[in-house]
Amino acid sequence: MSGIVHWIADTWGSETMPVLGRRLLRPFRVHHVNPGDFLRRDFIDTNGDVATLVIPFLASAFLIPTATQPGRAAAVFVAAFGACALPTNQVHQWAHREPPPLAVGWLQKCGLLLSREQHRRHHAAPFAMNYCITNGWCNRALTAAGFFPRLERLVSRLTGVEPRGEDRAFAAAAAEREREAGGDPA
Ligand SMILES: [Zn+2]
Ligand SMILES: [Zn+2]
Repeated sequence: MSGIVHWIADTWGSETMPVLGRRLLRPFRVHHVNPGDFLRRDFIDTNGDVATLVIPFLASAFLIPTATQPGRAAAVFVAAFGACALPTNQVHQWAHREPPPLAVGWLQKCGLLLSREQHRRHHAAPFAMNYCITNGWCNRALTAAGFFPRLERLVSRLTGVEPRGEDRAFAAAAAEREREAGGDPA
């Protein structure tokens, strides 16, 4: 799921779209142009948007009737799914930290959290592989199957929209803004 959300944010739509553009698409695109900026974001800034989306989803588990076996299974699924989704952006930030906190580095080495090596491959243009940013377990299989390129071709065929159509213009505008601010684009 983290891969699908990340792929959508990287590939489709415009940062000028209402709400979604500013809250979801823009941060992912800024992150490609300037990955170092992510490390300057504090805990709330890093996790707030994901938490806002996940908390109602987690809370909905209380509404599922648990008198039956399928109901209990559904409640456990919703709670487990929400609990995994909640730290996604934190795990993503750790994949950029050099060195990561000690325990996190160990979890990355064990493959329980997204590894820095795996995520580094996502950060090579055109940013079109290894979208999964929680534990990264699906990245290798999805890349081997050509899952996202196939999905992009299908979406393009159905809608006529070009994937990552705004990437070059976005990178140029971000570099221009950095120059005007006297900063150094990463
Ligand atoms: Zn990305
Ligand atoms: Zn990243």
